[in-house]
Amino acid sequence: MNYIVLDLEWNQSECTSEDMPVDGLPFEIIEIGAVKLNENREYEGEFHQVITPQVYNHMHHITGELTSITMKELQSGQAFATACESFINWCGDDFIFCTWGPSDITELQRNMNYYHMPLLPYPVYYYDLQKIFSLIYEDGKARRSLDYVVNFFNIPLSEEFHRAIYDARYTADIFKKLDIEVVKTYFSIDTYQLPASKKEEIYAVYDDEKYNSYSKYISRGFENKLLVMADKSVTTTPCYRCLRKLKKKIHWFSCNSRIYYCLSYCPDHGFMKGKIRIKKHDNGMYFATRILKLTDEEGAAKIYERQAEIRKKRREKRRRTAATP
Ligand SMILES: [Zn+2]
Repeated sequence: MNYIVLDLEWNQSECTSEDMPVDGLPFEIIEIGAVKLNENREYEGEFHQVITPQVYNHMHHITGELTSITMKELQSGQAFATACESFINWCGDDFIFCTWGPSDITELQRNMNYYHMPLLPYPVYYYDLQKIFSLIYEDGKARRSLDYVVNFFNIPLSEEFHRAIYDARYTADIFKKLDIEVVKTYFSIDTYQLPASKKEEIYAVYDDEKYNSYSKYISRGFENKLLVMADKSVTTTPCYRCLRKLKKKIHWFSCNSRIYYCLSYCPDHGFMKGKIRIKKHDNGMYFATRILKLTDEEGAAKIYERQAEIRKKRREKRRRTAATP
């Protein structure tokens, strides 16, 4: 299996009267850069293509500041569909994407969808090396810029940043320095394509106590948020060590109907905290991602506190509303 280390540059609307955002394409890809490595992470080749925009014809000021790409240069590129088709062919049959951050695979597929191209085979797993770097070298939560980590590893600065092919090369250099077992254990899942049915829903367990230990579930799409939280496969809290269906100490509660928390207890493995995030997909459907994580007494106490805080706020709000004549 090959690794395709991918970096994209994209442009967006300036939100002026002549340049309004277009439905289904908030970010238009203007450059694809990729490095192919074999299973031993040795260089196999690279892909680079500049793309002529068909939607946004002004360079957004942020894109213009970040990259050295000019609209003039883009005019000598290819249309997205042509470029993307050659890119996908170049990737081959057996590969996994590696990226810096979680956005590239989503935006690639969103652009493919905009041009009615067949999407990547479902489910789309990839390695987010920005996340992996944080797991191994930092707290797992911080997210560092590519230039920070290039500097961290003393990788020679041969090219500028924010050009797709140079960033892909830097990302490949970083990839070679990361422990491959950790990279493979902490794979990411792109949610641009939602599970089409209950059977296709995703449940992944990440359990290495040295780095981070949790389970992740991604639901199919629902018509509205209430239906999401009414679904048993969304709200269940199995222990990811012993597979027991756990009883909840605190049922799912929320302060904003987008994020829910709960607390369960496993007789063998102790407290487990849950977090559900409800998101709206491009297709108008709502879906949930659920993280379950074993925790200690202190972690459990925090969930109790959070629930108490929300209850207090709600009571105060009710009192205020009742006091209004
Ligand atoms: Zn258990």
